[in-house]
Amino acid sequence: MLTLQCPYCGVMADETELSAGGEAHLKRFGPGSSDAEFETYMFMRENPKGVHFERWRHANGCGKWFHAARCTTTLEVFGTYSAQVSEPPQDIKDAITAKRPGWAWREFA
Ligand SMILES: [Zn+2]
Repeated sequence: MLTLQCPYCGVMADETELSAGGEAHLKRFGPGSSDAEFETYMFMRENPKGVHFERWRHANGCGKWFHAARCTTTLEVFGTYSAQVSEPPQDIKDAITAKRPGWAWREFA
């Protein structure tokens, strides 16, 4: 079972206490954007085999949204962090690099 630490209340929450919110760090496009930009925002996702950044909500806890960096093949969690940032914190990226040299995810590495 996947267990993530909520970065707000510090609880180690089992997957059953959380709600998945899809991919993290999506760049949103709305009215006024081109059809191609809106299509990318709506439908295109990374879906990697390996390092992935996701949104989670501590639904049966403090109720707050946060981000998690984890490996989709091993379920190894590299860290969790606030959802109020536009890219993963450097310490999370360093932790991933230490365990998965050469990783890449969109523009983050
Ligand atoms: Zn929490």
